[in-house]
Amino acid sequence: MRHIAIIGSGPAGYYTAEAAQKKFRDDVRVDIIDRLPVPFGLIRFGVAPDHQSIKAVAGRYEKVALSDNVRFVGNVTVGKDVSIDELQTLYDAVILATGAPNDRPLDIAGADLPGVFGSAAFVGWYNGHPDYADLRPPLDGRHVVIVGNGNVALDVARILSKTRAEFDGSDIVSHALDGLDHSAVEDITILGRRGPHQIAMTPKELGELAHLQRATPRVDKDDLPDIGEDALLEPGIRKSVTHLREFAAIPEAFRADKVISINFDFFAAPVAIEGDGKVKRVRVERMRLDDQYRSVGTGESYTIDCSMVISCIGYQTPPIDGVPYEHGRGRFANLDGRILPGLYCVGWARRGPSGTIGTNRPDGYNIIDTVAEDMAISANKDGRAGLDALLALRKVDIVTFSDWKKIEEAEIARARDGAPREKFVRIEDMIAASH
Ligand code: NAP
Repeated sequence: MRHIAIIGSGPAGYYTAEAAQKKFRDDVRVDIIDRLPVPFGLIRFGVAPDHQSIKAVAGRYEKVALSDNVRFVGNVTVGKDVSIDELQTLYDAVILATGAPNDRPLDIAGADLPGVFGSAAFVGWYNGHPDYADLRPPLDGRHVVIVGNGNVALDVARILSKTRAEFDGSDIVSHALDGLDHSAVEDITILGRRGPHQIAMTPKELGELAHLQRATPRVDKDDLPDIGEDALLEPGIRKSVTHLREFAAIPEAFRADKVISINFDFFAAPVAIEGDGKVKRVRVERMRLDDQYRSVGTGESYTIDCSMVISCIGYQTPPIDGVPYEHGRGRFANLDGRILPGLYCVGWARRGPSGTIGTNRPDGYNIIDTVAEDMAISANKDGRAGLDALLALRKVDIVTFSDWKKIEEAEIARARDGAPREKFVRIEDMIAASH
C-alpha cells in the first residue's frame, strides 16, 4: 500500500488526489491535510463570490473526497501540529499543494500605511477567509487605487462597483455585502505599469465591466496602440484589447447615470504612498516601454488622492521551515515538482501563481507520474494510522470530510435569500458547526 500526504485542499491538491486514485487504484491511501476546517482553498477563498459557475468545479473534488482511499484532514497546520519531517516518516510521498495565498509585497515607501491592502487580504475579506474577517477596509472615501493589470485587479474593481442587487445569487459574506452597500467609492483607478497590449486580463472578465449597473469603465484612447498592431497579439489578449477599445469609445452621455468610474491608467507605476497616519495619495510615475516591452520610468510623476490602495500584483507561496524555497519567484525550489527525496510540490506552490484552475489538473497528473517513477514499490509506511496517533497525542481536533459536510449544511441553512450559503468566517464557528 502506498501512502501519500497532500498538503492543501485547493484545486492542485484535489487534482493530485484524483490522479493518485487513477494511477494506483486500490493500492493507495491519500490524506489531504489543510490548516483550515473547510476544504477547497482557492475555490472557496479566491474565486470571486459572483463567479459561482467557476466554483461548481468543487463538485468534481467532492467525488474524489468521498471515495474510500482519499481522506480530508482539516484543522491541521503543517509546521505546528505536525512537521514535514514527521510526515515524511509516515508517508511514501509528501506533496505540497499549498497554493500561493500570500501577497507579493508592494515594495514602495508608504506601503505599510493603514488603508493599503494586498489582494490576498481584500479578496479574503469579501470571501470570508478567517484570517481577514476583521479587516474593515475603509470604504468611506471617494477614491480607491488598485495596482496591477491582472484578473485579480478586475475582480476587486468589480466587487467594489456592484450594487447589493448585483450580488444576488453570490456567496459574498454578509460583513462585506453590508460594508460595500454603504460604500462612498465613486472613482476606482487601476494602475498598469505597462500598456494595453501587456495586460494580464482575460476577455470574459474584462468584458464584465461593461455590464455593471452603476459603474462604467474609462480608457484614454491615447493610451491605445495603433489598431493595426492588435493583429500581432495572441487571440485572448487581442479580445481583451478589443474590450479596452470599446471602453475608450463609450460616449460621455452614457456615463451620466453611472455613479462609479473605473479608470484605467496605463504606463503608470506607483512609486510612493503618502499620508499622515493613513493613506492620502499615491505618487505615480509615468512609464514607457523599452524595446523588450519592460516598463521604465520617464521621471515625470503626479499624484492621485485616495483613501485606499489595493495591491493586486500577484501572490507567493508561504515558505515552510526546512523546505528549499526560491525567494525571487515566491515558490518552493523544485525541479519538475521534485523538492527533496519523497517531497514534492504541485500547482502554484510549484510553478508560481499563473494559469487557470484547470491548469492544475495536468500539473496534478504529472506529479503523480513523477511520484510513481520515484517509488516503484512502497516502503510500507504507517500512513494515516500513524498520523492519527500523532494528532491524538497532541490533542488536535481534526475535521473530516463528513464533518465539513455538516459545516456546509449549516452554511446553506443560514444563507440569505437567493444565496447559496452564508460562510462561517471564524474557525471556532466552523468547528462548532462540525460537531
Ligand atoms: P497576474 O495575472 O500575474 O497579474 C499581476 C499584475 O501585476 C500584472 O499586470 C503585473 O504587471 C502587475 N505587477 C506586478 N508587480 C508589479 C509592481 N511591482 N508594480 C506594479 N504592477 C505590478 O496576477 P493576478 O491578477 O494576481 O492573478 C493570478 C492568477 O490568477 C492569474 O493566472 C489570473 O489569471 C488568475 N485569476 C483568474 C481569474 C479568472 O479567471 N476569473 C480571476 C482571478 C485570478 P507586469 O505584467 O508588468 O509584470
